[in-house]
Amino acid sequence: MDKKTTFSDLQLNNWIIRQCATIGVKSPTPIQSNCIPQILEGKDCIGAAKTGSGKTLAFALPIIQKLCEDPYGIFALILTPTRELAYQIADQFAVIGKPMNLRHCVIVGGMDMVEQGIQLSKRPHVVVATPGRLADHLDSCKTFTLSKIKFVVLDEADRLLSGQFDQQIQTIFKNLPKNRQNLFFSATITDTLEKLKGISNKDFYHYEAPSISD
Ligand code: ADP
Ligand code: MG
Repeated sequence: MDKKTTFSDLQLNNWIIRQCATIGVKSPTPIQSNCIPQILEGKDCIGAAKTGSGKTLAFALPIIQKLCEDPYGIFALILTPTRELAYQIADQFAVIGKPMNLRHCVIVGGMDMVEQGIQLSKRPHVVVATPGRLADHLDSCKTFTLSKIKFVVLDEADRLLSGQFDQQIQTIFKNLPKNRQNLFFSATITDTLEKLKGISNKDFYHYEAPSISD
């Protein structure tokens, strides 16, 4: 019988594993055990698994671990299609990153642009954003830069690349440095896969959870 993979097998730091335990996360889900080592190795990654399978921590844990090594400038940008998802993702970064005083901000529509501009200018480590509002900031204000970004995550990548957000995503990607890691996560990866390949300039690791059908 196969030994169950643990978070330490994935080369995550002990303090990160301890933080996971505080929210009842004790052993990795399949998408986490497959993608985390690849991300820590520096690979671009496409991960697909159904809703509720732990995709957020599959990217948040390795990003937080890498962030400890090099915390200068906005380090990671997470794009997601809705406000609700943005806040949920930000909460997970906040809980796991607490011992290292991780600074994050959420940039979504319906909130005050000026206040968001102030938050962006304070050099958060992680920005979680919906594409429209972040593109508005890039178009209108120059008090922050995405030039230090090491990771860009498209959460719900198939929804982000379905056409609705194309213009905003183009604006954002124009502002990103070439030398970065691209992480794409989705419940489904269908015809968007070709678009994803176009965005990534490296070979990427592709994990797709086996679907459970009856
Ligand atoms: P997805 O993005 O795949 O829909 P989420 O990342 O939002 O899923 O995770 C769903 C829930 O599962 C969250 O409440 C999260 O804290 C929890 N979770 C994540 N990873 C694990 C794990 N390894 N063990 C137990 N619970 C987990
Ligand atoms: Mg998710």
